[in-house]
Amino acid sequence: MKLYQALCNVGSFRNAFDFGGRDVVHWFPGHMAKGLKQMRANLKNVDCIIEIHDARIPFSGRNPVFQETLGVRPHLLVLNKMDLADISQKQRIQERLHRNGIQKVLFTDCLKQRDENVKKLVPKVMEILENNPRFNRDENLDYCLMVIGVPNVGKSSLINSLRRTYLKKGHASRVGGEPGITKAVLTKIQVCERPVMHLLDTPGVLPPKINDVETGMKLALCGTILDHLVGEEIIADYLLYSLNRLQKFNYVERYDLQEPCDDIQHVLKRISVKLGKTQRVKAITGVGNVTITVPNYSAAAYDFIRAFRKGELGRVMLD
Ligand code: GDP
Repeated sequence: MKLYQALCNVGSFRNAFDFGGRDVVHWFPGHMAKGLKQMRANLKNVDCIIEIHDARIPFSGRNPVFQETLGVRPHLLVLNKMDLADISQKQRIQERLHRNGIQKVLFTDCLKQRDENVKKLVPKVMEILENNPRFNRDENLDYCLMVIGVPNVGKSSLINSLRRTYLKKGHASRVGGEPGITKAVLTKIQVCERPVMHLLDTPGVLPPKINDVETGMKLALCGTILDHLVGEEIIADYLLYSLNRLQKFNYVERYDLQEPCDDIQHVLKRISVKLGKTQRVKAITGVGNVTITVPNYSAAAYDFIRAFRKGELGRVMLD
Protein backbone atom coordinates (compact mmCIF):
# COMPACT_ATOMS: atom_id res chain seq x y z
CA MET A 1 0.00 0.00 0.00
CA LYS A 2 2.96 2.29 0.67
CA LEU A 3 4.09 1.94 -2.89
CA TYR A 4 0.55 2.72 -4.08
CA GLN A 5 0.55 5.85 -1.97
CA ALA A 6 3.88 6.92 -3.46
CA LEU A 7 2.46 6.49 -6.94
CA CYS A 8 -0.46 8.75 -6.09
CA ASN A 9 1.84 11.34 -4.66
CA VAL A 10 4.02 11.62 -7.72
CA GLY A 11 0.87 12.27 -9.70
CA SER A 12 1.21 9.27 -11.96
CA PHE A 13 -2.56 9.13 -12.43
CA ARG A 14 -4.66 11.28 -14.69
CA ASN A 15 -6.22 14.18 -12.85
CA ALA A 16 -8.87 14.67 -15.52
CA PHE A 17 -10.63 12.24 -17.84
CA ASP A 18 -10.52 12.84 -21.56
CA PHE A 19 -14.06 12.34 -22.85
CA GLY A 20 -12.84 12.70 -26.41
CA GLY A 21 -15.62 15.04 -27.52
CA ARG A 22 -18.31 12.46 -26.79
CA ASP A 23 -21.91 13.52 -27.02
CA VAL A 24 -24.56 12.30 -24.58
CA VAL A 25 -27.47 13.00 -26.90
CA HIS A 26 -27.86 9.38 -27.96
CA TRP A 27 -27.31 7.84 -24.57
CA PHE A 28 -30.88 7.84 -23.57
CA PRO A 29 -33.80 6.60 -25.64
CA GLY A 30 -36.47 9.19 -26.30
CA HIS A 31 -39.39 6.83 -25.71
CA MET A 32 -39.05 7.43 -21.98
CA ALA A 33 -40.82 10.76 -22.24
CA LYS A 34 -44.01 8.82 -23.03
CA GLY A 35 -43.83 6.93 -19.72
CA LEU A 36 -43.41 10.25 -17.97
CA LYS A 37 -46.71 11.51 -19.29
CA GLN A 38 -48.47 8.38 -18.05
CA MET A 39 -46.76 8.70 -14.70
CA ARG A 40 -47.93 12.24 -14.26
CA ALA A 41 -51.50 11.03 -14.66
CA ASN A 42 -50.98 8.38 -11.94
CA LEU A 43 -49.24 10.76 -9.63
CA LYS A 44 -52.30 12.86 -9.04
CA ASN A 45 -53.53 10.19 -6.63
CA VAL A 46 -50.22 9.90 -4.83
CA ASP A 47 -49.66 11.54 -1.43
CA CYS A 48 -45.92 11.05 -1.20
CA ILE A 49 -43.33 10.29 -3.84
CA ILE A 50 -40.51 7.93 -2.95
CA GLU A 51 -37.69 8.93 -5.26
CA ILE A 52 -34.98 6.30 -5.36
CA HIS A 53 -31.48 6.82 -6.66
CA ASP A 54 -28.09 5.14 -6.54
CA ALA A 55 -26.19 6.00 -3.34
CA ARG A 56 -22.90 6.06 -5.28
CA ILE A 57 -24.14 9.11 -7.21
CA PRO A 58 -26.40 11.05 -4.82
CA PHE A 59 -26.25 14.19 -6.98
CA SER A 60 -25.69 13.02 -10.54
CA GLY A 61 -28.43 12.08 -12.93
CA ARG A 62 -31.46 12.56 -10.70
CA ASN A 63 -34.27 13.90 -12.79
CA PRO A 64 -36.04 16.88 -11.22
CA VAL A 65 -38.78 16.88 -13.84
CA PHE A 66 -41.33 15.34 -11.48
CA GLN A 67 -40.59 18.03 -8.91
CA GLU A 68 -41.01 20.74 -11.50
CA THR A 69 -44.39 19.44 -12.59
CA LEU A 70 -45.62 18.33 -9.19
CA GLY A 71 -43.51 20.78 -7.23
CA VAL A 72 -45.29 20.83 -3.91
CA ARG A 73 -45.91 17.11 -3.48
CA PRO A 74 -44.15 15.57 -0.47
CA HIS A 75 -41.06 13.63 -1.35
CA LEU A 76 -38.61 11.23 0.26
CA LEU A 77 -35.25 10.50 -1.34
CA VAL A 78 -34.05 6.93 -0.93
CA LEU A 79 -30.37 6.40 -1.72
CA ASN A 80 -30.19 2.70 -2.45
CA LYS A 81 -27.30 0.26 -2.95
CA MET A 82 -25.64 1.65 0.15
CA ASP A 83 -23.76 -1.66 0.36
CA LEU A 84 -21.86 -0.57 -2.77
CA ALA A 85 -21.35 3.03 -1.72
CA ASP A 86 -18.66 4.63 0.38
CA ILE A 87 -20.88 6.62 2.70
CA SER A 88 -18.20 7.61 5.16
CA GLN A 89 -19.13 11.20 4.31
CA LYS A 90 -22.84 10.71 4.81
CA GLN A 91 -23.09 13.96 6.74
CA ARG A 92 -21.60 15.98 3.86
CA ILE A 93 -23.97 14.32 1.38
CA GLN A 94 -26.99 15.02 3.56
CA GLU A 95 -26.01 18.63 4.11
CA ARG A 96 -25.57 19.23 0.41
CA LEU A 97 -28.91 17.58 -0.33
CA HIS A 98 -30.54 19.74 2.34
CA ARG A 99 -29.09 22.82 0.70
CA ASN A 100 -30.71 21.62 -2.54
CA GLY A 101 -34.07 21.47 -0.78
CA ILE A 102 -34.18 17.74 -0.01
CA GLN A 103 -35.04 17.37 3.65
CA LYS A 104 -35.70 13.66 4.02
CA VAL A 105 -33.12 11.11 2.94
CA LEU A 106 -32.90 7.39 3.67
CA PHE A 107 -29.99 5.09 2.78
CA THR A 108 -31.01 1.51 1.97
CA ASP A 109 -29.79 -1.89 0.84
CA CYS A 110 -32.78 -3.48 -0.80
CA LEU A 111 -31.10 -6.82 -1.42
CA LYS A 112 -30.70 -7.43 2.30
CA GLN A 113 -33.27 -9.88 3.57
CA ARG A 114 -34.21 -7.52 6.40
CA ASP A 115 -32.98 -3.98 6.03
CA GLU A 116 -33.58 -1.87 9.12
CA ASN A 117 -33.51 1.24 6.95
CA VAL A 118 -36.31 -0.01 4.72
CA LYS A 119 -38.32 -0.50 7.92
CA LYS A 120 -37.84 3.20 8.66
CA LEU A 121 -39.49 4.21 5.40
CA VAL A 122 -43.08 4.26 6.61
CA PRO A 123 -42.34 6.26 9.81
CA LYS A 124 -40.35 8.74 7.70
CA VAL A 125 -43.22 9.09 5.26
CA MET A 126 -45.62 9.63 8.17
CA GLU A 127 -43.38 12.41 9.45
CA ILE A 128 -43.42 14.03 6.03
CA LEU A 129 -47.18 13.69 5.60
CA GLU A 130 -47.97 15.09 9.01
CA ASN A 131 -46.24 18.29 7.99
CA ASN A 132 -47.86 18.60 4.59
CA PRO A 133 -51.35 19.43 3.39
CA ARG A 134 -53.11 16.67 1.50
CA PHE A 135 -53.80 18.69 -1.64
CA ASN A 136 -57.24 17.86 -3.00
CA ARG A 137 -57.47 14.38 -1.51
CA ASP A 138 -58.83 15.19 1.93
CA GLU A 139 -61.83 12.93 1.40
CA ASN A 140 -59.62 9.83 1.20
CA LEU A 141 -58.66 8.28 4.50
CA ASP A 142 -55.87 6.12 3.15
CA TYR A 143 -52.51 7.26 1.87
CA CYS A 144 -50.86 6.27 -1.35
CA LEU A 145 -47.14 6.18 -2.17
CA MET A 146 -45.32 5.71 -5.44
CA VAL A 147 -41.72 4.73 -6.11
CA ILE A 148 -40.02 6.56 -8.96
CA GLY A 149 -36.48 6.81 -10.26
CA VAL A 150 -34.15 6.34 -13.19
CA PRO A 151 -33.59 2.79 -14.52
CA ASN A 152 -31.72 0.19 -12.51
CA VAL A 153 -31.47 2.08 -9.22
CA GLY A 154 -33.57 -0.55 -7.43
CA LYS A 155 -37.17 0.58 -7.74
CA SER A 156 -38.54 -2.97 -8.05
CA SER A 157 -36.15 -4.17 -5.37
CA LEU A 158 -37.42 -1.51 -2.98
CA ILE A 159 -41.02 -2.53 -3.65
CA ASN A 160 -40.05 -6.17 -3.03
CA SER A 161 -38.20 -5.24 0.12
CA LEU A 162 -41.22 -3.31 1.40
CA ARG A 163 -43.34 -6.31 0.54
CA ARG A 164 -41.02 -8.58 2.54
CA THR A 165 -41.12 -6.13 5.43
CA TYR A 166 -44.84 -5.49 5.52
CA LEU A 167 -46.75 -8.30 3.84
CA LYS A 168 -45.37 -10.88 6.27
CA LYS A 169 -47.13 -9.20 9.14
CA GLY A 170 -50.44 -10.84 8.42
CA HIS A 171 -52.56 -7.75 8.72
CA ALA A 172 -51.02 -6.16 5.66
CA SER A 173 -52.21 -7.48 2.35
CA ARG A 174 -51.94 -6.95 -1.31
CA VAL A 175 -54.82 -5.08 -2.91
CA GLY A 176 -55.91 -6.14 -6.37
CA GLY A 177 -56.39 -3.90 -9.37
CA GLU A 178 -59.67 -2.11 -9.86
CA PRO A 179 -61.82 -3.39 -12.71
CA GLY A 180 -61.74 -1.41 -15.88
CA ILE A 181 -58.48 0.27 -15.02
CA THR A 182 -55.08 -1.06 -16.00
CA LYS A 183 -54.23 -3.55 -13.31
CA ALA A 184 -50.53 -2.84 -13.53
CA VAL A 185 -51.10 0.75 -12.55
CA LEU A 186 -53.48 0.33 -9.69
CA THR A 187 -52.27 -2.80 -7.95
CA LYS A 188 -51.38 -1.69 -4.47
CA ILE A 189 -49.54 -3.11 -1.51
CA GLN A 190 -50.57 -2.16 1.96
CA VAL A 191 -47.53 -1.04 3.90
CA CYS A 192 -49.13 0.37 7.01
CA GLU A 193 -52.37 -0.14 8.89
CA ARG A 194 -52.71 2.95 11.04
CA PRO A 195 -53.16 5.06 9.04
CA VAL A 196 -53.83 2.86 6.05
CA MET A 197 -50.99 3.38 3.60
CA HIS A 198 -50.60 1.79 0.20
CA LEU A 199 -47.78 1.62 -2.25
CA LEU A 200 -48.42 1.42 -5.97
CA ASP A 201 -47.00 -1.88 -7.18
CA THR A 202 -45.63 -0.36 -10.38
CA PRO A 203 -42.68 1.99 -10.17
CA GLY A 204 -42.38 5.13 -12.26
CA VAL A 205 -39.40 5.17 -14.58
CA LEU A 206 -37.71 8.52 -15.08
CA PRO A 207 -35.14 9.24 -17.76
CA PRO A 208 -31.89 10.30 -16.09
CA LYS A 209 -30.87 13.91 -16.40
CA ILE A 210 -27.54 13.98 -18.18
CA ASN A 211 -26.06 17.47 -17.91
CA ASP A 212 -22.65 16.59 -19.22
CA VAL A 213 -20.54 13.66 -20.38
CA GLU A 214 -19.10 13.00 -16.94
CA THR A 215 -22.59 12.65 -15.43
CA GLY A 216 -23.42 10.27 -18.27
CA MET A 217 -20.32 8.24 -17.57
CA LYS A 218 -21.15 7.94 -13.86
CA LEU A 219 -24.67 6.83 -14.75
CA ALA A 220 -23.27 4.30 -17.19
CA LEU A 221 -20.87 2.97 -14.58
CA CYS A 222 -23.78 2.41 -12.20
CA GLY A 223 -25.69 0.55 -14.92
CA THR A 224 -28.33 3.19 -15.56
CA ILE A 225 -27.55 3.65 -19.24
CA LEU A 226 -27.24 0.66 -21.56
CA ASP A 227 -23.55 -0.23 -21.82
CA HIS A 228 -23.47 -0.54 -25.60
CA LEU A 229 -24.82 2.97 -26.07
CA VAL A 230 -21.81 4.38 -24.26
CA GLY A 231 -19.22 1.70 -25.10
CA GLU A 232 -17.81 -0.84 -22.66
CA GLU A 233 -14.18 0.05 -23.13
CA ILE A 234 -14.71 3.72 -22.38
CA ILE A 235 -16.83 2.82 -19.31
CA ALA A 236 -13.99 0.53 -18.19
CA ASP A 237 -11.51 3.37 -18.69
CA TYR A 238 -13.66 5.76 -16.67
CA LEU A 239 -13.91 3.07 -13.98
CA LEU A 240 -10.12 2.74 -13.83
CA TYR A 241 -9.75 6.52 -13.69
CA SER A 242 -12.31 6.68 -10.84
CA LEU A 243 -10.80 3.83 -8.82
CA ASN A 244 -7.35 5.41 -9.01
CA ARG A 245 -8.68 8.84 -8.15
CA LEU A 246 -10.45 7.37 -5.10
CA GLN A 247 -7.42 5.23 -4.28
CA LYS A 248 -9.45 2.04 -4.39
CA PHE A 249 -6.82 -0.43 -5.46
CA ASN A 250 -8.60 -3.79 -4.99
CA TYR A 251 -8.30 -4.34 -8.74
CA VAL A 252 -4.51 -4.63 -8.49
CA GLU A 253 -4.63 -7.87 -6.51
CA ARG A 254 -7.74 -9.20 -8.15
CA TYR A 255 -6.16 -9.10 -11.59
CA ASP A 256 -2.58 -9.88 -10.55
CA LEU A 257 -1.20 -6.51 -11.54
CA GLN A 258 2.10 -5.49 -10.05
CA GLU A 259 0.90 -2.05 -9.02
CA PRO A 260 -1.87 0.42 -9.70
CA CYS A 261 -1.91 1.49 -13.30
CA ASP A 262 -3.69 4.23 -15.19
CA ASP A 263 -3.44 2.67 -18.64
CA ILE A 264 -6.66 0.88 -19.49
CA GLN A 265 -5.14 -1.09 -22.38
CA HIS A 266 -2.55 -2.55 -20.04
CA VAL A 267 -5.12 -3.34 -17.36
CA LEU A 268 -7.51 -4.97 -19.85
CA LYS A 269 -4.66 -7.03 -21.25
CA ARG A 270 -3.87 -8.32 -17.76
CA ILE A 271 -7.53 -9.04 -17.09
CA SER A 272 -7.91 -10.99 -20.31
CA VAL A 273 -4.81 -13.08 -19.58
CA LYS A 274 -5.87 -13.71 -15.98
CA LEU A 275 -9.37 -14.76 -17.02
CA GLY A 276 -8.24 -16.63 -20.11
CA LYS A 277 -10.26 -14.28 -22.27
CA THR A 278 -8.17 -14.33 -25.39
CA GLN A 279 -9.04 -14.65 -29.04
CA ARG A 280 -7.21 -16.43 -31.85
CA VAL A 281 -6.99 -14.31 -34.96
CA LYS A 282 -5.32 -14.73 -38.32
CA ALA A 283 -2.53 -12.33 -39.13
CA ILE A 284 -0.80 -11.85 -42.45
CA THR A 285 2.95 -11.70 -42.14
CA GLY A 286 5.82 -11.59 -44.61
CA VAL A 287 6.15 -15.37 -44.35
CA GLY A 288 2.46 -16.14 -44.81
CA ASN A 289 -0.64 -16.38 -42.61
CA VAL A 290 -0.21 -17.19 -38.95
CA THR A 291 -2.71 -17.55 -36.15
CA ILE A 292 -1.92 -15.45 -33.09
CA THR A 293 -3.52 -15.09 -29.69
CA VAL A 294 -4.67 -11.61 -28.74
CA PRO A 295 -6.44 -10.29 -25.65
CA ASN A 296 -10.21 -10.00 -25.85
CA TYR A 297 -10.45 -6.41 -24.67
CA SER A 298 -14.22 -6.18 -24.68
CA ALA A 299 -14.64 -9.39 -22.63
CA ALA A 300 -12.08 -8.02 -20.18
CA ALA A 301 -13.89 -4.66 -20.00
CA TYR A 302 -17.14 -6.52 -19.37
CA ASP A 303 -15.63 -8.44 -16.45
CA PHE A 304 -14.05 -5.31 -14.96
CA ILE A 305 -17.36 -3.41 -15.04
CA ARG A 306 -19.37 -6.37 -13.69
CA ALA A 307 -16.93 -6.84 -10.81
CA PHE A 308 -17.31 -3.17 -9.93
CA ARG A 309 -21.12 -3.33 -10.04
CA LYS A 310 -21.09 -6.33 -7.71
CA GLY A 311 -19.00 -4.36 -5.24
CA GLU A 312 -15.95 -6.58 -5.70
CA LEU A 313 -13.65 -3.64 -6.42
CA GLY A 314 -14.55 -1.75 -3.26
CA ARG A 315 -17.18 0.77 -2.20
CA VAL A 316 -17.07 4.10 -3.97
CA MET A 317 -18.56 7.57 -3.89
CA LEU A 318 -18.52 8.90 -7.43
CA ASP A 319 -19.96 12.34 -6.68
P1 GDP B 1 -35.20 -0.82 -11.24
O1 GDP B 1 -34.88 -0.89 -12.70
O2 GDP B 1 -34.98 0.56 -10.71
O3 GDP B 1 -36.53 -1.38 -10.85
O4 GDP B 1 -34.06 -1.69 -10.50
P2 GDP B 1 -34.15 -3.19 -9.96
O5 GDP B 1 -34.90 -3.28 -8.70
O6 GDP B 1 -34.54 -4.09 -11.09
O7 GDP B 1 -32.59 -3.42 -9.61
C1 GDP B 1 -31.57 -3.27 -10.57
C2 GDP B 1 -30.37 -4.10 -10.16
O8 GDP B 1 -29.81 -3.59 -8.97
C3 GDP B 1 -30.71 -5.55 -9.88
O9 GDP B 1 -29.65 -6.35 -10.35
C4 GDP B 1 -30.80 -5.62 -8.36
O10 GDP B 1 -30.49 -6.89 -7.86
C5 GDP B 1 -29.75 -4.60 -7.96
N1 GDP B 1 -30.03 -3.96 -6.66
C6 GDP B 1 -31.20 -3.39 -6.24
N2 GDP B 1 -31.08 -2.90 -5.00
C7 GDP B 1 -29.80 -3.14 -4.61
C8 GDP B 1 -29.06 -2.86 -3.41
O11 GDP B 1 -29.52 -2.26 -2.44
N3 GDP B 1 -27.76 -3.29 -3.40
C9 GDP B 1 -27.18 -3.93 -4.46
N4 GDP B 1 -25.91 -4.30 -4.35
N5 GDP B 1 -27.85 -4.21 -5.59
C10 GDP B 1 -29.14 -3.82 -5.67
